[in-house]
Amino acid sequence: MAIATIDPTTGKTLKTFEAHSPEEVEQRIAAADAAYRELAGTTFAQRAEWMHRAADILEAEAGDVARMITTEMGKTVATAKYEALKSATGMRHFADHAERYLTPELPVEASAVNASALSVRFDPIGVVLAVMPWNYPLWQAVRFAAPALMAGNTGLLKHASNVPQSALYLGELFARGGFPEGAFQTLLIEGADVAPLLDDRRIRAATLTGSVAAGASVAAAAGRNVKKTVLELGGTDVFIVLPSADVQKAAELAVNARVQNSGQSCIAAKRYFVHEDVYETFTDQFVAGMSATTTGDPLAADTTFGPLATERGRQDVHELVEDAKSKGATVLCGGEVPAGAGWFYPATVLADVTPDMRIYREECFGPVASLHKVASIDEAIERSNDSDFGLSSSVWTTDDEEIARLGREIDAGGVFVNGLTASFPGVPFGGVKDSGFGRELSAHGIREFTNVKTVWQA
Ligand code: NAP
Repeated sequence: MAIATIDPTTGKTLKTFEAHSPEEVEQRIAAADAAYRELAGTTFAQRAEWMHRAADILEAEAGDVARMITTEMGKTVATAKYEALKSATGMRHFADHAERYLTPELPVEASAVNASALSVRFDPIGVVLAVMPWNYPLWQAVRFAAPALMAGNTGLLKHASNVPQSALYLGELFARGGFPEGAFQTLLIEGADVAPLLDDRRIRAATLTGSVAAGASVAAAAGRNVKKTVLELGGTDVFIVLPSADVQKAAELAVNARVQNSGQSCIAAKRYFVHEDVYETFTDQFVAGMSATTTGDPLAADTTFGPLATERGRQDVHELVEDAKSKGATVLCGGEVPAGAGWFYPATVLADVTPDMRIYREECFGPVASLHKVASIDEAIERSNDSDFGLSSSVWTTDDEEIARLGREIDAGGVFVNGLTASFPGVPFGGVKDSGFGRELSAHGIREFTNVKTVWQA
């Protein structure tokens, strides 16, 4: 994929970028390695000061950064600004909490293992490669960068080829805050050139957020080199509504759950399982809400959501809808590619979706909801778990026993009750099955790229 900013609202190429040459890549790896040795000798307090300063810069520039994001991948400028500010908050979180998350632990009394002293330390491991997607161009990268740098690691960012300006901005942000040159840099390279980097002994681990295919490719290269990976991949998250729920509120938020970021969110709800007792009420309100959304200029204040990020992405979404239609799905709203420039797609609801349709199992990365009627909580759980993915879920009920059961039995990395799935800096984020492994954010995330080291003393 060419490295370029192509405005999804017009389809016009605004700026193209040369990929870094092998020599330029080598220089950056060497700089990251050197910066690691420098960073490893700094204190948490020093790194926190730099991190807060970088967050100050990002907050001060949030308006310009938001317009850059909107131009590169099409989300509304309001949500882009929210993303920039959320990223700054995430940076401050790790500045303030990294030391506590990484405080050495005493797993058992020293005497229990015949020691006079014992501790478990969380030491940095070196240069970590981060392969990131375009859908939240800042937040996805920051939620890796902030904990990694605070732990004392250095990072190399290979960002998606359609967000090069966001990538270059991030490649300078942390040095502008005060981190050593080389502590966090952008590599302008294409996806196909990533796997060989794992052969380099200076790169100690990798994290990838993106598709299953890309994740499997990076994990295979890392595995050959006995290096650790964290993978945050796709999702077909469920939105379950049971009879005791506040159906009106559920239907209202169900719209945002599906159209946020033009439907291009790994944790967006994609499969809706609604109990038959409330199916009609929910469906009427949900379809009305989806139909009332407006898609258009992402710089305009009254636009609900902008275009999809790429032409290919819109084609993939529409192919899933066409496949479902051809096999008998009912289109309750949307479902047609609008005329005109830009990669727009309307909020779409499909009913009568059956297992032979691709959309029943595949991730749909656009604003298309599949609606299913279920007869019981058992059916809702069973059908939710009948998926190759297991990222998160949003469940709606006020019955305590049902809440406990859903929390226990939904096979996913998250269960959000009476609210939408979201990522918070202090809460672990990640999935099971094809949604990946390892966790980002919280103490769990920052510890992923540390050497959990036992120090035992006779
Ligand atoms: P993608 O094609 O996998 O791209 C993601 C990143 O991987 C990009 O930087 C891409 O670079 C790179 N890449 C692509 N092929 C590669 C390969 N063979 N080896 C190494 N790197 C490779 O993903 P996408 O389809 O654009 O993004 C959407 C996907 O990301 C969805 O499945 C979504 O659910 C997932 N996602 C997951 C999370 C999460 O936290 N779980 C969050 C957001 C998105 P190029 O751009 O140069 O190809």
